[in-house]
Formats: sequence, C-alpha cells, structure tokens
Amino acid sequence: MNKVVRWLLLQVFVISLCLSTTTSAFAFSVIGGHLNYPPYYKNYWCSSDVYVPGVSPNANVDQAMTRWNNTQNTKVWMFKTSNRPSSIIDFLFNPFYDKNVMGATHFYRNSTMVEPSNNNWSWCEIRINTGFDWSKVTDPNGNRYPHMVFSATAAHEIGHAFGLEDLFWTWEGDYLMYQNIAFYQEFGVYGPTNDEVKGVRSIYGALY
Ligand SMILES: [Zn+2]
Repeated sequence: MNKVVRWLLLQVFVISLCLSTTTSAFAFSVIGGHLNYPPYYKNYWCSSDVYVPGVSPNANVDQAMTRWNNTQNTKVWMFKTSNRPSSIIDFLFNPFYDKNVMGATHFYRNSTMVEPSNNNWSWCEIRINTGFDWSKVTDPNGNRYPHMVFSATAAHEIGHAFGLEDLFWTWEGDYLMYQNIAFYQEFGVYGPTNDEVKGVRSIYGALY
C-alpha cells in the first residue's frame, strides 16, 4: 500500500469513528436532576377536560402515558388517579400568555419549585396550552390531527418530568425530545423512541 492510500484510509477511519461516537453518545440528553424515585407504580393526575378544538385533553394525555408505559424494560409504569395528592405528575390545561408555546414542565420538591439541572424533584406540573392552535401543525403527509399533536406534546413533556433534556441538533429531529414539534411534523414521531428508552434506563435503571 502506498503512503497516500494509507493516509486516505486513516482519514476515513477517523471520520467514521467520530460519526459513530456522536450518534451513540448524544442520542439522549439528561437535565441533571430527576424524580426522587422511578416513575414505577406511581400516579399521575389530570385536571378536568376543557374545550379544545379537535382535542380530548384527558384521553390524549392517557394515550401519551400509555406509550411511555409500553416502553420495554424501563421503570416506567404510571396509573391515572383522581386523588391529586397521590400524583407525582399533575397535568393542567390552561391558556398560556404566549400562545405559541405548546407545553411546559415545572419541577417541585414538596411545595417549592426547584431548578432541575442541579436538584432532584418529588413531583412535576405539566401545563399544556389550551390556547394553542393544535390544528396548525401537520403530520409529514400534510394531515391535521390535533389530538395527535396534543398527545405528542404531552409525551415530550412527560420526558422532561422523567429527567430528559431537549435535543438541539437538527439531525436529532426524529427523537421525541427534540426541542420543537418538528419531531412530529417532519418525522411523524409521537411517542418515546429507542433513545428516550435508553435515557430513562440510564436515569432509573432497567427492570432486568
Ligand atoms: Zn422540551
């Protein structure tokens, strides 16, 4: 092998190593803190339904949670409760001041809101914006399914409640935790992908 060919092969090796490291190491990102205990045999609670065109808030949150419950080999298994004090994730349906924001998660230890990057939390409040126009986001085929957009948003916020951070790189757009609804609109993702599964296993451990 002449020197030029050897040098070219070395370059190819170095480049491919970087790519594979990038995709496997940064496929999920954690906030820093997490729930004090795994979200396993724990309760969530929803405020009563309000009118949102094309959306059934309670049913669509339940669908989002079912997608998380169906993840394999994770310590995620949550039940809906009507007893709010026993809940560790409360869902509230209200109009936001900023009508372009779809959802937000707040983190609490007892009655104190905590900064989640360096504190653990005992419960979360997920607010979903009932003033958002849920029919303005299309799926990759151009269809408008507001209930799907709503439940995809709930699933994303649940990821935050579990301790997963947003992803910012454009090539991570096909993950549930991507920073904006492009994950649904462009890639058709509406629930946890393998990378969110790896993420919650890394935080709370696997079942087996
Ligand atoms: Zn987010």
